[in-house]
Amino acid sequence: MNYYLGIDFGTSGARGIVIERDKTILLTVQYSLEHLSKNNLALSWQTALYSLIEQIPLEIRKQLQAIAINGTSATVLLCDAYGNPLDEPILYNDGRGVTVLETIKKLTNDNQIVVSATSSLAKLIWWSKQTVFTEAKYFLHQADWLAFLLHGRLGISDYHNALKLGYDVERLCYPDWLQNLPFSNLLPQILAPGTIIDSVTPNICDHRFSLSPNCLVCTGTTDSIAAFLASGASQPGEAVTSLGSTLVLKLLSTTKIDDASSGIYSHRLGSLWLTGGASNTGGAVLRHFFSDEELINLSQKIDSQQPSLLEYYPLLSQGDRFPINDPNLEPKLQPRPSNRVEFLHGLLESMARIEALGYQKLQQLGADKLTQVYTAGGGAKNLTWSKIRQRYLQVPVTSAINTEAAYGTALLALNLAV
Ligand code: ADP
Repeated sequence: MNYYLGIDFGTSGARGIVIERDKTILLTVQYSLEHLSKNNLALSWQTALYSLIEQIPLEIRKQLQAIAINGTSATVLLCDAYGNPLDEPILYNDGRGVTVLETIKKLTNDNQIVVSATSSLAKLIWWSKQTVFTEAKYFLHQADWLAFLLHGRLGISDYHNALKLGYDVERLCYPDWLQNLPFSNLLPQILAPGTIIDSVTPNICDHRFSLSPNCLVCTGTTDSIAAFLASGASQPGEAVTSLGSTLVLKLLSTTKIDDASSGIYSHRLGSLWLTGGASNTGGAVLRHFFSDEELINLSQKIDSQQPSLLEYYPLLSQGDRFPINDPNLEPKLQPRPSNRVEFLHGLLESMARIEALGYQKLQQLGADKLTQVYTAGGGAKNLTWSKIRQRYLQVPVTSAINTEAAYGTALLALNLAV
């Protein structure tokens, strides 16, 4: 049998999913990253990666044909000539790059995804000012480095991870300003996600792991794109709404759209574009007022076909970027009815309105017409909410086929997804 392994390095844990040629899931393995010490994080990731592989039964492991890995976007490492990290990795949400933002603005003409304190580019430029940088030979994303541990080749990444580094995903090259940096030799070579890099190293297929020497390792992707790949959306006009702590929209389109000020940008997905934006509204606001159990019980008492007259903009603090780009936008949670069912109805309905406005904005900017919305995240199981959202969106709203990033990455390994 032929099996394919996708590995997801998320924020709280690492998971591996093995699929068969027909995309069915054979097994899942996991490793918690929640209690890692901040010292030698890279070594902990290596331990997690090796543990995931070892948890796969030997007979299946031997028949793995390909492996792909996704990492958290903008989690990066600085390595020496042998791939050893020279410093602790800088995590996705680390904002130390704020000190080099002015430099980036000048370099890039101020209008790109990289003008952010947490972008991979900000982290690279921050590192370039540290003494350790003189020894640096490679700048890699988390997924690149983990894959290197398996295939042994340094300096290779994919254009999903490289977007926040400043890679031009339209022209498929680094822009001149990036190539002209004095340390551009550290930049990885960029390939399409799911491209075969090499087979596993002899070390990896030895008696410890017993992988086949023919098992291939592919370029990876980021965790959120991997989750999109898992959803089943594949045609222009199909979208995935993630109803987690925040509200994240992703719409597959034949046109690339960008509006940096609203946080809207496009990832390349084969011959299509994955357009999207994220609002600060979402499940975190619901959790502030209701327990998960209350959300289930009270939602069942809502008549989804009856519009709520309450017009909120549910936020926990001031400001949103998408679909309304206003750092001073005030949360609107008044008037507050004494009946909790009515209050929840107003919140769900208002978030559905914001979601619809978001898709409207993406379409106004040129994205394809919305035809179908798949839902992921904690709010996906709320069928009352799905019906309310369908009333606003006017297209079918269903749960995503699968929401696991590891599954989307296994599809990459199968080389069918992109
Ligand atoms: P994240 O990974 O972004 O933290 P999850 O995808 O785990 O979030 O989803 C958690 C969110 O889902 C919580 O904020 C919670 O309020 C919301 N949630 C949980 N159950 C329901 C429900 N039945 N209806 C609506 N929202 C829910």
